[in-house]
Amino acid sequence: MRDRINLKTIIQGSERCSDAMRQAILENSGAEHLYDITGMTELYGPGTGIDCRFHEGIHYWSDFFIFEFLDPDTLKPVKDGEIGEIVVTTLKKEASPLIRYRTRDLTRVISGPCKCGSPYPRHDRILGRSDDMIIFRGVNIYPGQIDEILSEIAQSYPISSEFDITLKHADGRETMLIRVEREPDGDPDQDQEVEALISTTIKNRLIVSPDISIMDYGALPRSERKSQRIYDNRQAS
Ligand SMILES: [Zn+2]
Repeated sequence: MRDRINLKTIIQGSERCSDAMRQAILENSGAEHLYDITGMTELYGPGTGIDCRFHEGIHYWSDFFIFEFLDPDTLKPVKDGEIGEIVVTTLKKEASPLIRYRTRDLTRVISGPCKCGSPYPRHDRILGRSDDMIIFRGVNIYPGQIDEILSEIAQSYPISSEFDITLKHADGRETMLIRVEREPDGDPDQDQEVEALISTTIKNRLIVSPDISIMDYGALPRSERKSQRIYDNRQAS
């Protein structure tokens, strides 16, 4: 449809979208801008915030809402730049106001002024849900963190935005397997090198050592609704 619709601007919401996925959407559609709109049913639906043309974080409407960024376990404020759950208080909503309502959405504050000059404060894209958190060998991990690392590596190596995580118990210890797809034009001879790079990067950032397996393009299941990324088989085995 690309030639027929001449799409210039996309505003997308409702699903978390990695940098690699955003890049793929832009390249395939030919659009110039992909804006990320945030929101939730309890807050009028989409539109609690949106990124500007610089796409360096989402401006949220601080004259309508107070956003707090809290540690989902302790409910204490996190430091600027650390991942926390958005807890919202509405300032103008009538009939069904919310007071310190836990959204379960995780992100972090982006401090400092934006290049666009907007006075509205910014947070990062939604990085996941606090109820998606995995506790693996005592470390709290959000799928969004894995997604972010894979997106960075995808800028230099041919891996796609599709991945999943399987947790198991084997020989008395927990194991994590991350399956990532190679891009259609990727070279399978490079798989070992890419697997090692992903493994080391995750170990350095998240202090856990997963097994990595690069799969053929199209090998992982797709869904038109929210994709299942985590298979926790630790109880079953
Ligand atoms: Zn801006």
